[in-house]
Amino acid sequence: MIEADLVVHNIGELVTCEPAQGEGTLGLLESAAVAAKDGTIVWVGPSGRWQWRLEMAPEAMVVDAGGCCVLPGFVDSHAHLLWTGNRADEHAARMRGQPFWGGGIMRTVRLTRSSSEDELQAVAERRMRSFLRHGVTAIEAKSGYGLTPEAEEMLLRVAGRLAATSPMRVVSTFMGAHVVPDGVEPGEYVEQIAEEMLPRFRGMATFCEAWCDPGAFDVQQCRRILRRALGLGYQLKVHASEVAPGEGPRLAVELGATSAEHLNYLRDGDARLLAESPVVCIVCPGSTVSLKLAAEGSARALAAAGCQLAIATDFNPGTSCTENMCLMIGLACLELGLSPEEAIKGATLGGARALRLQRQCGSIRMGKRADLLLLDAESYLDIPYRLGVNLVDKTICNGQLIAA
Ligand SMILES: [Zn+2]
Repeated sequence: MIEADLVVHNIGELVTCEPAQGEGTLGLLESAAVAAKDGTIVWVGPSGRWQWRLEMAPEAMVVDAGGCCVLPGFVDSHAHLLWTGNRADEHAARMRGQPFWGGGIMRTVRLTRSSSEDELQAVAERRMRSFLRHGVTAIEAKSGYGLTPEAEEMLLRVAGRLAATSPMRVVSTFMGAHVVPDGVEPGEYVEQIAEEMLPRFRGMATFCEAWCDPGAFDVQQCRRILRRALGLGYQLKVHASEVAPGEGPRLAVELGATSAEHLNYLRDGDARLLAESPVVCIVCPGSTVSLKLAAEGSARALAAAGCQLAIATDFNPGTSCTENMCLMIGLACLELGLSPEEAIKGATLGGARALRLQRQCGSIRMGKRADLLLLDAESYLDIPYRLGVNLVDKTICNGQLIAA
């Protein structure tokens, strides 16, 4: 007998994301059950057998899935979680044809700098609860709206507290190289990141990221920052070719980055180069659609070349202020040309790979975290079909049922 303190049984369609465990690329099982102990999956099998195989703890939770579809928790591998304020007015101006009204990233930076740590923490906790309701059980928390050593450190401290207190898996990224703050000379800012911030934040962030695009940092500046980060033990991420074709994708491959993110534009040969590398390509359907760049067709090209893909919200105050992963999957299919299977895998196991969490998260098998989503649907195919509807009915995160 296997000891368990949680079982979800009567699952109509279990999407394991482990092809060896079931049918097709998503490893589908019918009439299945999943059991966990202390937040870790201990058994996956036919629903009719769980009572024979499991020895349930006295306080165990038994969940009847009622024949619904169950997925692994979503892993949101690209999220600007930490900032304050609201730029709905700016967004509305853009819809009305005034694309440069409002102040953009620096407006959020000024507001975030003037917020207290407690305020920022409260805002982030509220967002995390919403992410959980949308089925996100592991998330990235990027800094990058402070842009001074003190303000960036405050953001990373908040990320650390979220990681320590939430059932969600939270992974911190230091993104001082988001934009050059107003009133600072770009070369001096790059050196401040490399020589002051990176050594100071070692141990506070798993990843260091730089934005390689016009209006952000050029390839030499990104290389300077990321090489220094690598030397200090950070893993690397590259915000690449979001607003223009550029050197970012090649830089990600050159430096052995974990991921290249956005990739709205590809130069000749980029997709093949990325496919032949271990770099995970993070596609952000919300901002791609918001910037009206879906017609570039880069996500389809990456998939066709055989790249490892992740799908993320790119939660941010400017171009994609949404935590709805079901919507991201729908947009990835309808606007970016991915198949439902590619999009679901990107939102789960692909996201886990992009955060180096694939040993713990992103699929349903023994030994992984018990992060399970019970859908208000019989099949994962309903996610792109019911466009924009949050079909997550119940979220189980690290073995705990999250109250809606
Ligand atoms: Zn972003």
